[in-house]
Amino acid sequence: MAKTCAFKAEIRQMLDLVIHSLYSKKEIFLRELISNASDAIDRAKYLALTDATIAPEAPEWTIRLTADATAHTLTIEDNGIGMNAQEMEDALGTIAKSGSKAFAEALKEGKETNIPELIGKFGVGFYAAFMVADGVTVDSLRRGEGQTPVKWMSAGDGEYTMDEGSRTTPGTSITLHLRPDQEQFATGWTLKDLVRRYSDFIAYPIYLHEEDTEPAKDEKAAADKAAEEAKPLNTMVALWKRSKNDVKQEEYEAFYRQTLHGTGEPLKTLHIAAEGTLEYRALLFLPKTVGMEMMMPGNKHGLSLYVRNVFIGDEIEALTPSWLRFLKGVVDSSDLPLNVSREMLQDDAIIRKIRSDVTNRILKALAEMAKEQPEQYETFTTALGDFLKEGYHSDWENREKITELLRFRNLKDGKYTSLKDYKTAMAEGQKSIYMLTADSLQAAQQSPCLEQLKAKGYDVLFLTTPVDQFIAADFYEYDKTPIVFADKGDLDLADESEKKTLDETSKTLQPLLETITKQLEATVKEVRLTSRLTDSPCCLVQDPSALSPAMRRMLEAMGQNVPEDKRILELNPDHTLIKSLSGMTDEAQRSDTIDLLYGQACLAEGTLPPDPAKFNRLVAALMAR
Ligand code: ADP
Repeated sequence: MAKTCAFKAEIRQMLDLVIHSLYSKKEIFLRELISNASDAIDRAKYLALTDATIAPEAPEWTIRLTADATAHTLTIEDNGIGMNAQEMEDALGTIAKSGSKAFAEALKEGKETNIPELIGKFGVGFYAAFMVADGVTVDSLRRGEGQTPVKWMSAGDGEYTMDEGSRTTPGTSITLHLRPDQEQFATGWTLKDLVRRYSDFIAYPIYLHEEDTEPAKDEKAAADKAAEEAKPLNTMVALWKRSKNDVKQEEYEAFYRQTLHGTGEPLKTLHIAAEGTLEYRALLFLPKTVGMEMMMPGNKHGLSLYVRNVFIGDEIEALTPSWLRFLKGVVDSSDLPLNVSREMLQDDAIIRKIRSDVTNRILKALAEMAKEQPEQYETFTTALGDFLKEGYHSDWENREKITELLRFRNLKDGKYTSLKDYKTAMAEGQKSIYMLTADSLQAAQQSPCLEQLKAKGYDVLFLTTPVDQFIAADFYEYDKTPIVFADKGDLDLADESEKKTLDETSKTLQPLLETITKQLEATVKEVRLTSRLTDSPCCLVQDPSALSPAMRRMLEAMGQNVPEDKRILELNPDHTLIKSLSGMTDEAQRSDTIDLLYGQACLAEGTLPPDPAKFNRLVAALMAR
């Protein structure tokens, strides 16, 4: 009663491409077949709810792999719903399934390397078996009354044969006759590894039986083997599928360390069960620290993705914005097709929604942490604050929320301060928020540019990390209050009478200003008097648009050619040194003093004087005098 049929054209075409594709990850066939087996059991269980003839024996639902290294075969067996002849023909031989048709259309325009991904996308995963097998036999007995077993066989060459099957119990066995170069798929350790990697959270136990290549040595060896084979290869229940209340903190932590390779304890765990228009589950971890390599934006990162308990891949960058690359965890969605490619994920609408939801939840969790667990939030700021700042720079959609989460060390007590708290505590009459970029907290605290601000009792926020230097230009306003950098432009802090005095002094000191300008012409753009200083004789400032000195040094260290931009030297007219300089008649002495003055201004902002050796000599001579 065997009958041989030709595959429909589209299937033949597809098979041809599958078999000859150079796709390297042929191993994905196993997860496709195991996933089909799991679906078949799901379906049997579901139908059994309303039909007593489906599973009267109430079986243990299982998936069994049998590897025969001698015969080079691998069998994947399930006791799920099974197929009758008609179902088998529909499912495996015709284009009744819309998937094959859509697949065939995609083929016409598609690139050959994408084939296996297309297989998954269009729900024709069964055919992936032909990547590793040159003969496939499907033997099935449909559950329910009055069914007869049926068999389907094909070499993937354009034809398939259907015949009476040999199964006596309901379910399906799929036997692959492995191609000569794919024989590793009949070895136990390869299968164990693949199941753990791709199918660990399949909800039914997957057992492995290896046919003996030689008889067991003795009874004990045989018993040991049987005991080993009685253990499922997969752990079955995904942690994220369980209810939050059922999972212990230790379990989360073990998962964080063992599966995600996290170190120590996570700073925060988020167990998400999103329901409604967007349904997905996720288990996310914020680490306490990250390695330096993470700071590099090109570094590989991303969450792992599961679709219906089946592992799709790790480092799925599409699931998070780049600034959240420190995040570890998994996302599981039932709305995605199995075996979607990374490229497809990039512009998948569901993935985009998940990314946005994940980002929002992280931002919300951080806001809560900042409010309720300030100590923990400080740990976060210290270890991961730079990522948040990168987010402030790059994630426009979330800039407002991120702004509220930023913390900066302040002048007043060196503590982390939010822009909101800064603004609330602003002194009377203070019109701007003041910031300063510097190499370190210490350098910032000692900058002469802050003297007048200190005198007025204004607080200042410091930007001292490498990322700060890059993003400083993004800070120009917070909640309608301008942000002003203490070392840039005119701080405009003097009142009318102070301004008048300054103008008059400028006139008197004009000859001195000209002399200094002339002497420092090569390095300084302008020399002017300031009210910015109270204790120091001078300081270097910049135009509001200029690169900060720290940023300049960093770019130069990275080998970049940074265009020169000259600084402005500001003098404190009330300082005795400036006063005596203006009265100095000995030209050589005046010139040396100007060099010393300038060198000092450089040191104050953390840069070397232009001629350090000369500066040293001048200091020594001064001390000797
Ligand atoms: P998909 O599973 O996405 O529908 P496949 O090509 O993997 O696509 O499978 C085609 C069809 O074959 C399935 O929809 C199902 O009807 C049937 N099938 C495959 N494997 C099994 C199995 N183990 N038990 C019962 N039916 C199966």
